[in-house]
Amino acid sequence: MQNQRNKKILDLTRRLIRISSTKEKPDALHRVLNLAKKELPNYSYQEFSRKDQKGELIPSILFFNKQNRPDKFRILLHGHLDVVLAQDKKQFIPFLKGSRLYGRGALDMKSGAAILISVFKDLAKELPYPIGLSLTTDEEIGGLNGAKYQVERGVKADFVISGEPTNLKIGNRHKGLLTLELSANTQGGHTAYDGEDKNALFQVLRVQLLAAQMYPGPDGIWRTTCSPTIITTTNRANNIVPADAMGRLSIRWIPQDDPNMIQNNIAKIDKRVLVKRFSFGEAHFTSSRHPDVILLSKTVKLVTKKPALFFALPHGSDVQHWTNADAGGVDFGICGAGLHAEHEYAEIESFRQYADILEAFLRSIHL
Ligand SMILES: [Zn+2]
Repeated sequence: MQNQRNKKILDLTRRLIRISSTKEKPDALHRVLNLAKKELPNYSYQEFSRKDQKGELIPSILFFNKQNRPDKFRILLHGHLDVVLAQDKKQFIPFLKGSRLYGRGALDMKSGAAILISVFKDLAKELPYPIGLSLTTDEEIGGLNGAKYQVERGVKADFVISGEPTNLKIGNRHKGLLTLELSANTQGGHTAYDGEDKNALFQVLRVQLLAAQMYPGPDGIWRTTCSPTIITTTNRANNIVPADAMGRLSIRWIPQDDPNMIQNNIAKIDKRVLVKRFSFGEAHFTSSRHPDVILLSKTVKLVTKKPALFFALPHGSDVQHWTNADAGGVDFGICGAGLHAEHEYAEIESFRQYADILEAFLRSIHL
């Protein structure tokens, strides 16, 4: 039975990998969801789609174990079926080598999604509480038209597990994103006579350096970090001090910090430099003392015979769209390496463990 299930999961994963579902191919996003739909013929579902900035429809789907969608799921499983671009087209041809499955999305996260589909298929009908399975196709570009759209359409849950690869660690927090744009304008001048007060490039550069000192890193420490990324000016002459400059800062903020406060702190460095928000993404935190997180960590220990480890993702994931709407949630998924890289692979041994943990966890949930 176990082997049979593993074989089915592997087979579904390989079929999913063969569909090159990158953001460049909207029709592949539909095809990959259709494949999932075929796997779950006995469950009700709701389809969603919203146009992105380019006018392409971004599809997603939600399966549930009741006739109608409940007001709130007790547990919501989530996976994304989009992948990042491949370095080589061959990555869309999955292959096995030893205990590893190679291919684009093998780790992030078509194996994980195939396991969620399999566990949901076998178990959801038996569970006494409302459980959903949300599959989206735009996680790699922020999830605004997938997970976030489902949240906006009233898809609520007490607790969400997103099957992002975490090496079976529990990802209960990740940093938010804040990109700031700095700009300065002066009258310009002559490099032989005029200093900082006329030099817009110098002003922006100085704010970038001081901001990066204020929020140093990233260096593996769990804190807000700031990296200067861009600096430009229209000036092209060596003997003129630049009259204009634009620079950006990429800030990764921890949930304990307030992004408005960070922005204010940077804006205070030099009043001559205008600081504007360029892009923004929420941070995520669910306490390790949350009852469902405690239950999940106990289940991990039971199945793996090792204590559960917690994990902070340095970047965002779709789970934040639900946790920012008051759900508890974690990223929790299989083992592997080479995220977004050419040698991306999943450890097949972890498929069985992951499925066993999910199954035991879902069976021990009470209303
Ligand atoms: Zn992912």
